[in-house]
Amino acid sequence: MKDGYATALGLRYEAVKRALPAAVTLVAVSKKRSVEEIRALYDLGHRDFGENYAQELRAKQSELPADIRWHFIGHLQRSNVRHLVPFIHLIHGIDGAPLLDEVQKRAAAADRVVDVLLQIHVAQEETKHGLDADEARALLQSWSTADRASIRLRGLMGMATNTEDHELVRREFERLAALFQELKPQAPVPQAFDTLSAGMSGDLGLALAAGSNLVRVGTAIFGERD
Ligand SMILES: *Cc1c(COP(=O)(O)O)cnc(C)c1O
Repeated sequence: MKDGYATALGLRYEAVKRALPAAVTLVAVSKKRSVEEIRALYDLGHRDFGENYAQELRAKQSELPADIRWHFIGHLQRSNVRHLVPFIHLIHGIDGAPLLDEVQKRAAAADRVVDVLLQIHVAQEETKHGLDADEARALLQSWSTADRASIRLRGLMGMATNTEDHELVRREFERLAALFQELKPQAPVPQAFDTLSAGMSGDLGLALAAGSNLVRVGTAIFGERD
């Protein structure tokens, strides 16, 4: 870390926080950031961090304070679920029943209840993972509380298309927010279905305007990634 890093980090962090209503959770996306960079933000009082890669997350988690709330925001492979379940705070990227079944199995074995979000595909890019609206509806209709006793469904996550076309991004976030409102009454525990994870450094304002209450911000806090 260069001299002055902590000062610059603190200024960017305060600026991001000022842009957020108090009820919005800020997850600092720390993928590809060093343990030292994460600790610098931790020392400013931040506790919610998001990572995309299971191995990287495990390595960092073992070196950093235990009161960090770790969010898994990447594409989760079933083979990695067991490594994350013992400590993960929220899994954002659930994309179907097979992954849910694995989380259930591993969470029950670890004697934990694990919070998850369903990832919804709203972007035009094929590379973004997730369920479409009908798949999400079907998943909720077939949800058996008895078979998923170690999972708490907290809401939805989505990523908009990476584009300068703000109208497109706005429409995508609005579709995501509408689906969130539609599905809430059908959720296994509607009161617990309270989290809409949407918005990154480049589209934060549009996500908040649509009703996001959890934003995942990397670059705007830590600076450009290598
Ligand atoms: C990298 C990433 C972010 C943060 O992106 P920034 O543009 O750096 O804010 C948010 N969400 C997901 C799923 C990501 O992969």
